[in-house]
Amino acid sequence: MVVKLLGTRGSVPVSNLQTRKYGGNTTCLYIKANSGETIIVDAGTGIRELGPSLLRDRVNTMHLIFTHYHWDHMQGLPFFAPIFQSDSIINIYGPKKEVTVKRALSYQMTKPYFPTVSWSDVPSKIVYKTINNKLKIGSIKIRTIVNNHPNYTLGLKFIENNKSIAFLTDNELFTKDGPTPYKKFITFVKNADLLIHDAQYSDQVYEFKLGWGHSTPSQVMKLVEDAGIREVLLTHHDPYHSDKFIDNTVKELSKKFLDVNIKAAADGKTITFK
Ligand SMILES: [Zn+2]
Ligand SMILES: [Zn+2]
Repeated sequence: MVVKLLGTRGSVPVSNLQTRKYGGNTTCLYIKANSGETIIVDAGTGIRELGPSLLRDRVNTMHLIFTHYHWDHMQGLPFFAPIFQSDSIINIYGPKKEVTVKRALSYQMTKPYFPTVSWSDVPSKIVYKTINNKLKIGSIKIRTIVNNHPNYTLGLKFIENNKSIAFLTDNELFTKDGPTPYKKFITFVKNADLLIHDAQYSDQVYEFKLGWGHSTPSQVMKLVEDAGIREVLLTHHDPYHSDKFIDNTVKELSKKFLDVNIKAAADGKTITFK
């Protein structure tokens, strides 16, 4: 499978000279299965850039999975070109614990928040699908876990040919108030070939954000150690964190964890698994 990070910023998109390296688009992940299927996780502002390339490659069937419906994970969808193509078939999966995916997307594209086209009027064919703890799309097996985050949120693991990638964004690893104890995350990500995990807050800021549903780089590294992970990408970067700040975080951690490849997720980065 091929994985492309299209949005790695948390909370709100940013654009300034200090964030050019890691980028400012909010969460979106593109996965191409070896069997050819197109999977997209979340529709933060990063999804907009994917639209023209899918049209160019004549990809008209795709699978879009929502982890949850906070703005930074869905606000790019009204600007995603395939939804306006009548020959597009978009299979949509998302939690329905508090609200159905259909309703969550409809709320976003209503007046006065969005002009002209409502979600129910988009010309593409939208097919609502169910996601529970297991799912298979082409050659990719998908497993889910419930993250510790305000409003019901899914963590995901993608498995193909004995390679696995865990994608846990918007997740507070150590909290007593959440639905999932830390130990379950260790089991879920155990020996994954790549972990992509939310590391929005610094240790100092975290003290003031208990229960907000995000983790720190040092908490992510605890999980990395406990689960035998060798490759990690820190993501959901805080909008106030500059490239320099993120570089420094990675540098300091790399000095401590010599046998782990630690990097920060960056918009546009592609990873190929054979
Ligand atoms: Zn988020
Ligand atoms: Zn969130």
